[in-house]
Amino acid sequence: IAKEQGKNNFQWNRAGKNEQVFAHMELENDLRKALDLRQFVVYYQPQINIQTGLVFGVEALVRWLHPERGLVSPGQFIPLAEETGLIAQISEWVLREACRQARQWQVEKSQYFKVSVNLSSSQFQQINLVDKVRDILRETGLHPQYLDLEITESIAMHNIDYVVSKLTQLEHLGVHISIDDFGTGFSSLSYLKKFPIHTLKIDRSFIQDITTDPDDASIVTAIRSMARSLNLDVVVEGVETIEQLEFLRTIECDKVQGFYYCKPVPAREFERLVVAGTLKI
Ligand code: C2E
Ligand code: MG
Ligand code: MG
Ligand code: MG
Repeated sequence: IAKEQGKNNFQWNRAGKNEQVFAHMELENDLRKALDLRQFVVYYQPQINIQTGLVFGVEALVRWLHPERGLVSPGQFIPLAEETGLIAQISEWVLREACRQARQWQVEKSQYFKVSVNLSSSQFQQINLVDKVRDILRETGLHPQYLDLEITESIAMHNIDYVVSKLTQLEHLGVHISIDDFGTGFSSLSYLKKFPIHTLKIDRSFIQDITTDPDDASIVTAIRSMARSLNLDVVVEGVETIEQLEFLRTIECDKVQGFYYCKPVPAREFERLVVAGTLKI
């Protein structure tokens, strides 16, 4: 019986492999059409200052509303979008939509907070990136001080002079620059003094066990104190529990983002949470 099962298993796996390849191709085809079909949605996750309890920003996180698969998370399609070169158009759409929405909240509700948009490293390599950002700000009417661009440490592995020049141009536009997933890259810390950046977002992998693992607690404490002496802001990602929050409070990490406060939600849901008083601006 075991042998029989093993054999079936083997056949099933092979079928599974073909199916995977097929599903991948199908997904790629669907992704090509998704922009035209308006299947992308931007979710917003609030960032909270725990001293004041107020929302000081939101991170724009894209989702793909697939007609059959339902809500597809960026982890599942961003790599595919990078592979196929579709990332540029999708990212531009997200940037425009996030700026438009942020401006709408300002105009219609007098709610002012910054919106953070993730830049992929291939997007960062685009020569017209700065023009694109300037155009989108102009077009949507969002003042640059309310836009925060999140880049990962991995861009620091590329041509440093190029990166410094791009970031400097972005800074001259007046936008904010954050390093996302800080602490997970392999790059040298020397970029911290070369790049005109404002914020370090500490990766959530350091927060998960922060109350039980002294190493994680030390790392986060060290990043906090380094950031302070370099005059950088810190935002802590992935805060899920009151215990994590209390620890962060003791080391004066005041700016947090995580499920403890709120998951990423559609714009209308964000508005409802504000009206209900669950989120305060
Ligand atoms: P990220 O920029 O580091 O975004 C934070 C991710 O952590 C989000 O996942 C968010 O839902 C999740 N998260 C936030 N708080 C918690 C928490 O308390 N617990 C846990 N377990 N997770 C939490 P999401 O939305 O699935 O996005 C994953 C990644 O996809 C993002 O990581 C970002 O790198 C990328 N991404 C998302 N939207 C875009 C986009 O528009 N453009 C580009 N280039 N990348 C994007
Ligand atoms: Mg991010
Ligand atoms: Mg992150
Ligand atoms: Mg990430």
